Amino acid sequence: MTLDTAWARRWIAEAAATLVGERDRLNGLDRAIGDGDHGENLDRGFQAAADRVSGLADATTPAEVLKVVASALISTVGGAAGPLYGTAFARASRATAGEPEWSAETLATALTAAAEGVAERGKSTRGEKTMNDAWGPAADAASAASGAGESAEKALVAAADAARAGAEATEPLVATKGRASYLGDRSAGHRDPGAESTALLLAAAVTAVS
Ligand code: ADP
Ligand code: MG
Ligand code: MG
Repeated sequence: MTLDTAWARRWIAEAAATLVGERDRLNGLDRAIGDGDHGENLDRGFQAAADRVSGLADATTPAEVLKVVASALISTVGGAAGPLYGTAFARASRATAGEPEWSAETLATALTAAAEGVAERGKSTRGEKTMNDAWGPAADAASAASGAGESAEKALVAAADAARAGAEATEPLVATKGRASYLGDRSAGHRDPGAESTALLLAAAVTAVS
């Protein structure tokens, strides 16, 4: 099993399927500390992304698939998450251009580029109770796995596990970016919806490996 173009296609199909099922739960997380639309935003975005990816006849690299995903997300997801996820996928695409099969190192490069893109675009950093708290640890875990000589698949599992832990660890945090920051201290005690959706997306990437 390799992280190739077919994997990237399966990833996006799997992400779209996951988000149909998780839509209400993500809306609920966003209802607690935002405006309740995160599940519906991402569901719409990933259905559009999956449609465009299936219509993409001639992709020969994961980067080409991710580029189409980025443009679908930017054009169909309103609010904060559209441009942030669009930037994440666009940066991951650009950082891996021309690579038909990702090594652990390529994965680390992709996730680091995505994490940096989100932080730049959002003018935000880790610890602010945003999707940075999932992307950042995922990038670090992939880099550590790559440095330790692990396979691409093991690096991906490590990244998804780190994103999951990062999303859960947003619960006690007070939000200082995005809509949740309007609540101040009252944002504590709830999981950040964007960190949770990032964990779901990386879990879908793992499922797509097999
Ligand atoms: P909106 O808040 O515009 O309705 P969504 O509900 O789709 O957009 O997305 C909200 C998520 O976006 C938050 O849970 C958070 O993870 C993420 N987010 C919001 N602002 C920022 C930011 N400045 N930096 C990083 N992530 C952010
Ligand atoms: Mg919202
Ligand atoms: Mg909104």
